[in-house]
This record gives sequence, C-alpha cells and structure tokens, in this order.
Amino acid sequence: MRGSSQAASILEIDLDAITANWRLLADKMGGAERCAAVVKADAYGLGALHVAPALSAAGCSLFFVATLQEGQALRRALPDADIAVLNGLASATPGAFLRAGLMPVLNDLGQIEHWRPTGAPAMLHIDTGMNRLGLPRDDVARLEAEPERLRGVRLAGILSHLACAEEPENPMNDAQRAEFAATLARLPTARASLAGSSGVFLGPGFGFDFARPGAALYGVNPLPGRPNPMRQVVHFKAKILQVRGIDEGRSVGYGAAHRMARGGRVATVAVGYADGWLRSSSNRGSVGIAGHRVPIVGRISMDLMTIDVTEIDPAIARPGALVDLIDAGHGVDDVATAAGTIGYEILTSIGRRAHRVYHGGQG
Ligand SMILES: *Cc1c(COP(=O)(O)O)cnc(C)c1O
Repeated sequence: MRGSSQAASILEIDLDAITANWRLLADKMGGAERCAAVVKADAYGLGALHVAPALSAAGCSLFFVATLQEGQALRRALPDADIAVLNGLASATPGAFLRAGLMPVLNDLGQIEHWRPTGAPAMLHIDTGMNRLGLPRDDVARLEAEPERLRGVRLAGILSHLACAEEPENPMNDAQRAEFAATLARLPTARASLAGSSGVFLGPGFGFDFARPGAALYGVNPLPGRPNPMRQVVHFKAKILQVRGIDEGRSVGYGAAHRMARGGRVATVAVGYADGWLRSSSNRGSVGIAGHRVPIVGRISMDLMTIDVTEIDPAIARPGALVDLIDAGHGVDDVATAAGTIGYEILTSIGRRAHRVYHGGQG
C-alpha cells in the first residue's frame, strides 16, 4: 500500500471491532432497535463516513451527531437512517434540518416554538442535573403546565444525560434516573433514552427505550478501573526517523528536559502534538516496539518525540521501523492515563496527518 508505506504515522481502524462493540451494547439493551450510535466529532475522530455505514449494515438505525454540518455530511452516506443533532436548533434554521432530513434535539422552549410549525420529528432533551444542554426544570414545568407548547411536535425521543455514569456508586445516577422517570410520566409519551456508554452498564433501570453509546463503540472502557468489556478498535503507529547514541549526562530535546543517566540510544519518532500525541505525556508515557515497552524521554514536540531504545536490539529499533503508540496491548485508556486525560480526548485529537487504513466493515 503506497500511501501507507510513505506515511510517517498510520491509524488503523477496525470497523469489525466497532460493530462487535455495538452488538455487545445492543445485546445488553435487548435488541438493535434499542441501541443508537453516537458518531459526533467524526465518530470520535475515527471517520464517521466509514464508521456509520458499517454500523448501519450491522443493524443500527439511529445516529447522533453534534452539529448540523456533521448531520448533513452523514446524511449523504446514510440515506435512510434516522439522524439526530444533539446541539439542536441553536445555530441553524428549521429549513436546513428539513432539507437534510435531520432531527434536531430541542434544548429549550424557544427551539420547541421554532420547530413546532414544521410538524416534523424531533427529540427533546430534558436536563436532570448535568446542567449543560437541555430544558432546565423550570422549562419542563412550563411544558407540563402549558401542553399546547408541544402540540404538533412529533416527538421521536426524549433524552437526558448522566453526569457520573462511569461511577456506578455515585448517588447522582439514581437521582437523575428518578427525576427522568418522573418527568417522562408528565410529558407526552415518546421513546426515552438516558444511557450513554457507561450508563448501559448501570443496570436495567437505566436502559429506558434506547441507549446512546459513543466512546465504548471505539474501544474506550465504559467501566474505568474495571476490566474493559469492549474490543480495542485502533492501532496507531509511527515511524522511527533517526537513532543516535547519547553519552551519559547529555540532554534530549526542548528544555533539556531529559538527561541520560547512562549512555544509551534514543530514537526520534515521527509523531508529535500536532498529530494529537499529547505533550502532557512528555517524559511519562511509553510506546511499544516489537512487543517491548520503552519510555518516552524528553518533551514531545510538534512533529516529533524521542524514546529510549537502549534496551532494544539495534536491528529492531532502526530508522524506518514502526513503533506502536496505541494497540490492543496498550489501549486508548492507557495512553490517556499517561497523558493525564481520558480516552475520548486521545481519540478525537489524532490528527489529519495520520494515514487512515480501515479494516472490515462488510456488515
Ligand atoms: C456524547 C454524548 C453521548 C455519548 O456519550 P459516550 O460517553 O461517548 O457514550 C450520549 N449522549 C449525549 C447527549 C452526548 O453528548
């Protein structure tokens, strides 16, 4: 593969692992119609135009994106699926949604008013404690008191979002679940949805009618601190450009932030923070080379980073060899821990320079 052998970094994406992850979540929910897929931010950086058709072929029929533009792009790839736009009508007219056949997720009373004359399907987001998007309590109370505000709106779903789903013991989960259930009882009947990836694992009480997982589809552990039930999806690799011997006491890279405790060899790898390889893993993270783990030494710079390969056979750690940045043995959550962030940010940061290679996905 010419493009791939010339690329300095390669991102392999296993579409079959994504569909297997979706099936696992759909099975937990009790069926394909009870599991949507969140493909916002270009399917968490992995390519919505590849990921969503694979999920559609696997039986997924409802997709969530964040913005109108994401929805418009996805509509071209998925002529028949239901596509809902989480950020709602805030920055677009109903006409733009109707033309693309997209459903807004309505987040306040003004948006409901604006959408009502279209008579077209929409979803409603109820805030139960996240305090981010969705109708706040006062607005929900007005909807209950003035039901004509919803007259003519075809409610394809009512959602709410959990703030602490990855902490099963957090009492906020039950509080939000109870408030959501009580609110649903006072609104017109519609398919209800509370759980994202982690919410699916909180128990049947959190399932409602359908779930909206994103991160878990892409291999992020929905159960932090416990074994990951999801398959790893990405293999991110980058090429060694140079290897040099460095004497004891000499420094490596910007700020001379690493000093060699002993003489050794350092390899320069063609990945940097411009590729989404976060600078916060400077002097902390590690990478794989032919099955061995070696430390990142010195600061990560824009296009490059340095790793200590003193312990690795020079025939293996040589210019042109690929190092493993993210793979099945050292997954997206491990990389996130070293960088002081979460797997979501690792995936969505991976830059456009990485040559993307897709495997599988034939349904
Ligand atoms: C992003 C998002 C999701 C998906 O969350 P994950 O944790 O990635 O599964 C679900 N619902 C809403 C409202 C979201 O913003």
